[in-house]
Formats: sequence, C-alpha cells, structure tokens
Amino acid sequence: MTEPQDPPRFVVQLHDATTLHFDLRLESGGVLRSWAVPKGPSLDPAVRRLAIPVPDHELEAAEFEGVDHGPNGTGAKIIWDEGTVDLTRDDPDHVSFNLHGEKLRGGFALAQTGPDSWILIKMRDEYARRDSDIVGDQPHSVRSGRTWQDVARDG
Ligand code: MN
Repeated sequence: MTEPQDPPRFVVQLHDATTLHFDLRLESGGVLRSWAVPKGPSLDPAVRRLAIPVPDHELEAAEFEGVDHGPNGTGAKIIWDEGTVDLTRDDPDHVSFNLHGEKLRGGFALAQTGPDSWILIKMRDEYARRDSDIVGDQPHSVRSGRTWQDVARDG
C-alpha cells in the first residue's frame, strides 16, 4: 500500500489497449484523478487534446509499467512521464496544474466541454513549445527507456 506522498505526484502512461492512448493521472486527495487522452499531451498552447474522464485510480497505479492483459490490444503500458504536480485550481469542471516532469513542465489546464469530454491544453509559459510534437519526438519510458512496443514484445 502506497501512502500519499508530499508533494503530490503525476504520471502519464502510454497504454496499448483497444486503441493506443495516454492515461494522465494527477494525485489529489489520496487517489489518482484520471483521464484518457487519445492523442496525448502537447506543449503547443494552440492544441486542444480530447481528455476522457475515467474513474479514480489508486496511487499504486502510477508505478505500473509492463503488460496489463486486457481483452484488446497488447496491454503494454509504459511510464511515459512522471513527476510532481501542483494543483492551482480544482473545480468539478476545471482543473489547472503545474507539472514538474521530465517531458512535461509548466502550466496545463483540463476543462470540461461535455458530459464525458474534457480538453487538455498547455498554458502559455516558458515551457510552451509551438508546433512541437513531444509525443512523437519522445516515445520512450522515463523509467526504463523502453517503448511500449519493447514492453509488448518482451511480455
Ligand atoms: Mn489506459
């Protein structure tokens, strides 16, 4: 059982399930609030990425890298980024936060746009990068250096 840590943590996992997607998880209140982000985060403030809310996960979920056997896809999951998070706004339909990860830094916001849809955007700050593609440029796990395909192949 992992105890809540101070400061709170975040993780972004890249997960090959029914479709390849990213899972963004922010520690808050002793759980990981979670969204599935099909295209993953962007550092470009002009880009709005769909984020689908999913049930809270236990803190232990942030530690998992490996194959999570499910009905679809290979189930491979890597820790694409991780670090600490400061929540600066935590409303039911809007969450603002600063990430201190290896790939993701600075301000981000999640805003609800529909019953089951939110958007993830990068705030304009010194860590914003216009026209960048961090998902494409940096596909590896920050824990192991492996890609999700490496994990899938090694089982
Ligand atoms: Mn997932």
